[in-house]
Amino acid sequence: MKDEIISYRQMCDAEKVQTLQRGMNYRLNANYSVILMSQRRNAPYKDSILQDGITIEYEGHDVPKTSSNLDPKKLDQPKVTMSGKLTQNGLFASAVEDYKGGKRTPEIVRAYEKIFSGVWSEKGFFKLIDYKYINADKRKVYRFFLEETEIDFSSSGITENKLRQRTRIIPSDIKKIVWERDNGRCVICGASDELHFDHDLPYSKGGASITPDNVRILCARHNLQKSDKIE
Ligand SMILES: [Zn+2]
Repeated sequence: MKDEIISYRQMCDAEKVQTLQRGMNYRLNANYSVILMSQRRNAPYKDSILQDGITIEYEGHDVPKTSSNLDPKKLDQPKVTMSGKLTQNGLFASAVEDYKGGKRTPEIVRAYEKIFSGVWSEKGFFKLIDYKYINADKRKVYRFFLEETEIDFSSSGITENKLRQRTRIIPSDIKKIVWERDNGRCVICGASDELHFDHDLPYSKGGASITPDNVRILCARHNLQKSDKIE
């Protein structure tokens, strides 16, 4: 569930994999791709959210570090490997090109973010709609553009739900501040499991941006009570 707080294990279980090592995982399963966002200090791939509040700009990945190239940050991010196969950058970029060329619908990407060691949060589902390959610090890097979407699962796969209200993306650094402030517990009852980040800003309301002041941690029970009240 979007903005749910989960462990690394729960994340892997949700994706039916033993481990998730790579940040970019094109078509991790038959229906969608998965990206991981990390908030390490000096994180190379920090997420940034565009002004619209629903689009993420996500940096592509560097060449793997080997003995012959000690500093991947000085090399262009590659589209193909040494053996000529598409890299994850290449796979994501090709999906965008095919989408823009009218050959397919946008690739659906599920994003997870690392809040702290062992603390992860789902960022939701996105449509991979665009990319750029730009000059940055004397090399070329990929920037992918992912727009928030709502998804329904069915036996035949996944479909976009255009009726469900879209919500603004909570930036990872705000989740980190809120997690520390609320001590990793529901602010109402102190429960420390089945938690998620709660905020009261439907996309349609526009205006106010997301700050730590309008985000809090709620357990599943108290979140349910809240949505009952709204309906
Ligand atoms: Zn609670």
